[in-house]
Amino acid sequence: MSSEDLARANVRALTPYQSARRLGGNGDVWLNANEYPTAVPFVLTQQTLNRYPECQPKAVIERYAQYAGVKPEQVLVSRGADEGIELVMRAFCEPGQDAILYCPPTYGMYSVSAETIGIECRTVPTLDGWQLDLDGIAAQLDGVKVVFVCSPNNPTGQLINPQDIRDLLEMTRGKALVVADEAYIEFCPQASLASWIEEYPHLMVLRTLSKAFALAGLRCGFTLASEEVIALLMKVIAPYPLSTPVADIAAQALSPQGIEAMRARVAAILENRQRLIDGLQSLPCVEAVFPSETNYVLARITTSSAVFKSLWDQGIILRDQNKQPSLSGCLRITVGTRDECQRVLDALRDQPGLTATEKQ
Ligand SMILES: *Cc1c(COP(=O)(O)O)cnc(C)c1O
Repeated sequence: MSSEDLARANVRALTPYQSARRLGGNGDVWLNANEYPTAVPFVLTQQTLNRYPECQPKAVIERYAQYAGVKPEQVLVSRGADEGIELVMRAFCEPGQDAILYCPPTYGMYSVSAETIGIECRTVPTLDGWQLDLDGIAAQLDGVKVVFVCSPNNPTGQLINPQDIRDLLEMTRGKALVVADEAYIEFCPQASLASWIEEYPHLMVLRTLSKAFALAGLRCGFTLASEEVIALLMKVIAPYPLSTPVADIAAQALSPQGIEAMRARVAAILENRQRLIDGLQSLPCVEAVFPSETNYVLARITTSSAVFKSLWDQGIILRDQNKQPSLSGCLRITVGTRDECQRVLDALRDQPGLTATEKQ
């Protein structure tokens, strides 16, 4: 019997998460993963690597709780928000029996984690403007333990209507958890649902240091939820989810100076985003630019697959969303440095497209 035959059936069938890093992209302008474009400095202060780290480092938890406006008992820190996605499934979903539900087009890890564990994925496609189909969700809730809502949504960039999330929370009360994925909330902080946790004990909010905090390589994320939900997640998390250097750097990022620096980075990215959007709108190959509350912009582009490949060959790596439902012809572009935004605009200017009159 080959190892392939020995593997679990759902793992044999699994398509792993696709990233340009994994695909061996070889660019010098990386605008495919919504990372911050430049590295931020840090120092290592902990020299005690002979000892195991704290499971939930106190300084990190307390600083994040203060930053997010919740109690420390309502915070869990993990190896990226991606680990939070997996923990909620492992704590709440019985493989082969329960289901998760999400609304495509959206973030790819909900299905990858569910399929790895052997949990059914139920999908209810979004409506106009990529908003929730609440009737469709209501009709599909039987057997669903966790509903994932990404707001602002990746890859489309817009917020989910808060009243719809409230209706979803009422609909799921006592039946299922609702996970609000707020990976990009620093770019629109007023939209956070963290303050709703008191009112809705079945609401979980996912956060990360990978985007506005410029620490994707650190692998550090947070789950905010009621004390009861956090206690359940604590039962299934690894004993030492964060290494000592990770906790050390995360605590620095969450110091008052760290948060101030993050806010300055957000302001710079928002400026570059406007410049990128304005530039895109004037290009012949760009059919539509969608509004964004995040550090990326989704655009519909004439012959997008050929354009994607042409830019890839020039070392400019974007994210092709063409295969996602309702996103045919769409590319997602991370807002990089001012120079990187200009490189993309210059490369796109050379692509075939429509004249202004043809566009109308
Ligand atoms: C980037 C991203 C994450 C993952 O964050 P990590 O902390 O790097 O694991 C989760 N959700 C969404 C929507 C993201 O875009």
